[in-house]
Amino acid sequence: MEKKQTINFGAGPAKLPQSVLLQAQKELLDYNGSGVSVLEMSHRSSDFTKIMNTTENLLRELLSIPDNYKVMFFQGGGTGQFSAVPLNLIGLKEDRCADYLVTGTWSSNAAKEAEKYGKVNVVHPKLDTYTKIPDPSSWSLTPGSSYVYYCCNETVHGVEYNFIPETHGAVLVSDMSSNFLSRPVDVSKFGLIFAGAQKNVGCAGVAVVIVREDLIDHALTECPIVLNYQVQAQNNSLYNTPACFSIYIMSLVLEWIKNNGGVDAMETLNKKKSSMIYDIINSSNHFYTCPVDVACRSRMNVPFRVGKKQGDETLEKEFLDGASKLGMISLKGHRSVGGIRASLYNAVTVEDAQALANYMKEFLKEHQ
Ligand SMILES: *Cc1c(COP(=O)(O)O)cnc(C)c1O
Repeated sequence: MEKKQTINFGAGPAKLPQSVLLQAQKELLDYNGSGVSVLEMSHRSSDFTKIMNTTENLLRELLSIPDNYKVMFFQGGGTGQFSAVPLNLIGLKEDRCADYLVTGTWSSNAAKEAEKYGKVNVVHPKLDTYTKIPDPSSWSLTPGSSYVYYCCNETVHGVEYNFIPETHGAVLVSDMSSNFLSRPVDVSKFGLIFAGAQKNVGCAGVAVVIVREDLIDHALTECPIVLNYQVQAQNNSLYNTPACFSIYIMSLVLEWIKNNGGVDAMETLNKKKSSMIYDIINSSNHFYTCPVDVACRSRMNVPFRVGKKQGDETLEKEFLDGASKLGMISLKGHRSVGGIRASLYNAVTVEDAQALANYMKEFLKEHQ
């Protein structure tokens, strides 16, 4: 019997390009004639050094990262950086305070973690629901704060910034875990960008940190050594054993992005895929509803409800069951918001998005 094709709309860990998986499979037992697997290779071997250098160079090329920025690889995922950012940066100014924009689960978690290490100011009126970005005219940044922090794409709520916050000179820090390399970004506007790999650039186990050089020697004394930016920078991310295999997978994904036209091409495709889904939501006469403000709807994670505004749970279950029968998996919304969430990361193809769009149209016709 022919195996039905699976389309993975998971929010993370998420779909990887088929060609990346095939290459990893091909090289699994014997990497590049070395006689060993990347899984069992010394992180100080020449083969692994080349993998690290290739990964860094591809990141620099794809994002045009200026020379005065370090590119580093950390364990501990995106959440590890919720701690690393304040541990390394909150001491930049003597007040030890930081400004946070709290627009969803992930920035909220980051702000909570930062409170352990200094004073945290949320710069806008608190949001009742995470469905919009407060208008910049309502923000009040704190003079003397060490940095301004925001999450560029709120994976759970589907809220994405399509502008770079103006900080009037303050150091800008962004969590780009779920839209990293989905579109171009002017790195020079940031003090620091970080991204866990398992959403858009690889598998779990590694987070990329891109940080301006002058910011890295201000760590608090209690900063764990594995999270210390200066220590990892001086050691080319090899102070201790890095997540070797995850970095290797990232290198394959980055090559795949490059061979497919780079971040500009990714952006074009991501616009196209997300429009396909939002267009159906918008024209469904409120059968499908997306609670997020039109101005900040995410291209990466599309949350929506089925049947009525608060969601008809019976219909939503039927929607998910029907999708699953067609091979479309991991469409269930985050447990904190319910409903449906379609994640449309780089590796999700236009055909994949089309399959979902077609199913949504059919489901609408049957139930309206
Ligand atoms: C998934 C995610 C995280 C957390 O990543 P972990 O690797 O699970 O710690 C942080 N921020 C954003 C935006 C995410 O999508």
